[in-house]
Amino acid sequence: MDRKFSTRAIHDGERWDKSTGAHNTPIYQTATFAFEKAEDMAAAVMDPLESFFYSRTSNPTTAALEKKMASLEGAEAALVTSSGMAAVAISILISARAGEHVIVTNDLFVISRQFFEEDCPAMGIEVTMVDVRNLEEVENAVRPNTKALFVETITNPNIYISDITAFRSIADKHELILIADNTFLSPYLSRPIEQGADIVLHSATKYISGHGDTVAGVLAGSKKNMDKARIKLDSFGQCLSPIASWLVLRGVRTLPLRMRQHSANAQALAEYLEGHELVEWVKYPGLKSHPQHSLARSSLPNGCGGIISFRIKGGAAEMNRFSNSHELFGKGVSLGDVFTLVYPQPWRDNLIRISVGCEDAGDIIEEFEKALAAV
Ligand code: PLP
Repeated sequence: MDRKFSTRAIHDGERWDKSTGAHNTPIYQTATFAFEKAEDMAAAVMDPLESFFYSRTSNPTTAALEKKMASLEGAEAALVTSSGMAAVAISILISARAGEHVIVTNDLFVISRQFFEEDCPAMGIEVTMVDVRNLEEVENAVRPNTKALFVETITNPNIYISDITAFRSIADKHELILIADNTFLSPYLSRPIEQGADIVLHSATKYISGHGDTVAGVLAGSKKNMDKARIKLDSFGQCLSPIASWLVLRGVRTLPLRMRQHSANAQALAEYLEGHELVEWVKYPGLKSHPQHSLARSSLPNGCGGIISFRIKGGAAEMNRFSNSHELFGKGVSLGDVFTLVYPQPWRDNLIRISVGCEDAGDIIEEFEKALAAV
């Protein structure tokens, strides 16, 4: 019988070292691997997808993380990369080539947007951006040369929810590869592979590692797709260092605990903000006021994650007064860490994105109360 998610997060991919008894997975900080026999070396080099001979291609510490991530995503295989952007790029490089076309959500992470708007056309890959809430618009964008549909499970920064099951039907009809960036939710909250995605990917910098100390990425899917992805990773050199893989491995063991706390805290903070007289609007899928709240309830039974966008009445001055008045939390980009992070965005009509951390919910709200009082 399959073990439950929390057990798999701790144990899968790892086993204590038989030769030394070391309980924790060692950091195999080595570039190359030595062989006793020339024949063994030749066999390894000839079979790069299944053996360790050079750490750009694969490494035992990274392989432990890959096995754990495959288990958590419910995928056949996974591949760890040097960053989330490496994972985004590889997902497209194995899905489309010059002369082909991909469809992409029009609300997405800013550097993914740069990749799709600038780098894909430079490689001869055509891109159409669509509103993922409008299934008709998505399907109408399909052309004879369309190869892939790329979505974020929750979009950044407008917090739209992608209906992966509905996209699967479109992908089946037109033989598209369905790629889901699951960074904002993690496999604990969202199950894109089970809902029909071919490839799921993450900025593992965020919830997967969870402690704000590593930049990393991960892809998961069929063994066939992950083998293709490893060959691309080899060509483009986007491997993660063994020590960084170890940090992610340590972080991901507590993913379920953290995601439950992030979701509960974000729900409490979103409700508090929605009731505050100085707040113009709040976007969080767990709020009844979110236009896709019923989709959130059916597709995200374990919680809606830790990301809230909101706007304070007034303009940049009010946003800045709020942002400069909380003491406990840093202002910064990134998200998904145990600490709360505040990201004021004057270029987006003074939207403030909150990555709600795992602190005590009462303390988080008190900090916001103080900062709102200063507005
Ligand atoms: N995808 C999403 C949704 C992100 O938010 C980010 C980064 O913020 C990335 C991909 C890129 O990840 P990384 O910063 O690890 O390259």
